[in-house]
Amino acid sequence: MRGKLVAGNWKMNGSLASVRELIDGINRGMDTIQSAGVAVCPPAVYIPEVAARIGGGRLALGAQNIGDQDGGAFTGEIAGSMLRDFGCRYAVVGHSERRSIYAESDQLVARRFAAARRAGLVPILCVGELLEEREQGFTEAVVGRQLDAVIELEGIAGFADAVVAYEPVWAIGTGRTASPDQAQEVHAFIRRKLADMDAGIADRLIIQYGGSVKGANAAELFSMQDIDGGLIGGASLDAGEFLAICKAAD
Ligand code: PEP
Repeated sequence: MRGKLVAGNWKMNGSLASVRELIDGINRGMDTIQSAGVAVCPPAVYIPEVAARIGGGRLALGAQNIGDQDGGAFTGEIAGSMLRDFGCRYAVVGHSERRSIYAESDQLVARRFAAARRAGLVPILCVGELLEEREQGFTEAVVGRQLDAVIELEGIAGFADAVVAYEPVWAIGTGRTASPDQAQEVHAFIRRKLADMDAGIADRLIIQYGGSVKGANAAELFSMQDIDGGLIGGASLDAGEFLAICKAAD
């Protein structure tokens, strides 16, 4: 039986002082979370600080991105082995901000996914459609294409130790959440598509929802059959709100 996973994506927010306060606040509330997996993805430079403060507890650490190569002359990139050195377990790949603002292609995202697996990290693959794509009825085509790029490179086996986050781009940071039924429909599509290749892998795959999740709407979203937790942006910057979301996944 797959569990639930809530991951906080802090994006490019915070300072050393605010990061300390946030992680200490989350840490203090962790003993109230029974079964859900919980991870935080701080800006890369704060990973060592957060790692030191969470120690060996249940709270897991992730990176917001990962280099597609294993090392060498790739200015500005961070290799998976380096993330492992500082205790990371997860690496987000293909966040819509990377895809749209930094023009990351499906193929580059797939290479980042592969690099995470080579390093022994669990990739959190973000997929999702733009508002105009949804309105034109292209949601499944877009999400299917984003999955296919990874399947082409890694095969269906690549999803055996990965997480997928369905994040409709129109719901990210906008306060406009997909309804539980809208989200469930796409989550079920993702699982069906992968189940056509390997039913066991699809059944065990954690598929998170992301897009304006808050303490107030999390329980309803997480109660849907194929929604296995969330990737949380804005609300993960507030320890109380983030813990409320984690409790909803519990
Ligand atoms: C995200 O950036 O992954 C995200 C889901 O952001 P928010 O929760 O702020 O919509």
